[in-house]
Amino acid sequence: MTLANSQAEFHPRQREAATDPRKVRYDLRNTAGSILAATQKRVAKCGHRLVGPQASIVIGPHGARITGVETCGSVWACPVCAAKISEGRRQEVAECLDRHVTGTPIGGEGVPGDVYMALFTLPHTYTETCAELRVIMRSAWTFFLQGKAWKAARKRWGITGYIRAMEVTHGANGWHPHLHVLFLTSALSESDADELRVWIGERWANVVKRISGKEVRLGVGFGFQKACSVSAAGDYVAKWGADSEIAKASSKVSRKGGRSPWQLLADAGNGDHRARFLFAEYAAAMKGSRHLTWSVGLRDMYLSEPEKDDYELACDDAPHHGDMVIGALRRGVWHRVCRAGLIPELLNSAEAEGWAGVLALLRAHRLALPEAIYVNRRKQNDLHAS
Ligand SMILES: [Zn+2]
Repeated sequence: MTLANSQAEFHPRQREAATDPRKVRYDLRNTAGSILAATQKRVAKCGHRLVGPQASIVIGPHGARITGVETCGSVWACPVCAAKISEGRRQEVAECLDRHVTGTPIGGEGVPGDVYMALFTLPHTYTETCAELRVIMRSAWTFFLQGKAWKAARKRWGITGYIRAMEVTHGANGWHPHLHVLFLTSALSESDADELRVWIGERWANVVKRISGKEVRLGVGFGFQKACSVSAAGDYVAKWGADSEIAKASSKVSRKGGRSPWQLLADAGNGDHRARFLFAEYAAAMKGSRHLTWSVGLRDMYLSEPEKDDYELACDDAPHHGDMVIGALRRGVWHRVCRAGLIPELLNSAEAEGWAGVLALLRAHRLALPEAIYVNRRKQNDLHAS
C-alpha cells in the first residue's frame, strides 16, 4: 500500500472526553500549550518541537516514548511532565518511607518509626490572587520550621524530618493552596501522637495569624492522622500528576469541592474561557516554585541516589537498559502527527504492534510519504524476532 502525503486531510483533534490516561494527558498538554503560548513557551513546545532532524520512537522497559523532542519539565503546567515527575518522586518517597518504618537508614542501623500525614490550609477569599496566597503559604511554612519551639518539638517527638508537597485548587471561595506534609517520627503512643497533633495545629494557626492576620479553624483548615500504609503516605504527597488525578480532569466528577488545575485545563479545552484565564493565572503564580521538598538531611539518611530535578525526571532522552529504537519520523511527518494530535495514538500503536503499528497509523491517517520515514531495520527485525 502506498503512503499518501496529504495535508488537506488532517483529522481534527477529538473534542470528546478521552478515557485513555495517556490521551487525556496529551490533550490537556495541547490546551496548556495554547493558553501559555506567549508566556511559557517551553510548555507550548514540550513534546512537539524537535531538537534534531527527527523524532525517534523508542520501546523501553516502561513502554513507548519519543526522544529528540523538547521537554518543558513543568510540574505545575504540563500534565505530561507532571505525570513523569510525580512517578519519579513517588518512587523516591516510597523508598524513604519504607526505610523509615523498618528502621533501616543508609549505612547504619535505626529503629522503626511512624509516618503522620498532615494537611495545612489557610482561609482565603475570592478576591485574593493565587500569587498572593502562595506567598502567604510559603512564608507561614518557613516560620513554622523556625525557632526553638520547632527544635524542641523535633526532639520531643523524634521527628526525623518531613516531606512537603504544595497543591492548589480553585473553588467558590477562590484559590485554595494547601500543603500535604509527611512527618517522619519515632514510634509514638496514641497519647503522644495526639499531643503532636494538637501542637502542630496550634503552631500552624499561630504562624498564619502572625503573618497574615487570618484565623485558621483547626477543624477545617488542619488535618492530622497516622498513615495506614507506606503507599498511602507516598500517594499523599506525590499524587499530583498521577493518572488517577489527571483522569479526574476529563471525568464528570463533581467540581463542588473545587477544580484542580487539570480540571481547569479540561474545562478550558471545552470552551470555558473563565477556566482558561484561571489556569493562566495559576501557571504564572506557581512557575519556579517547588512542588515537593524534603527537610535538610532526610534524603541523605534514606536515599543513596542524588536528587534529580524536575527536568531530569521528565526528560525522555536518557537511555534505559533494554531500550530499542524501532524507527524515526522526519520533521515533516512528525509535525503532521503533532498537528493531528496523534502522539498518544502513535505511542499506543508502537507498544501494541511495534513499527508496523506506527506505519499502519500513519497510513490510516494519510500522514506520510514512504521516503519521509526512516526505520532502523536492524532494530525492527530484532523486535519482530523477539
Ligand atoms: Zn512538559
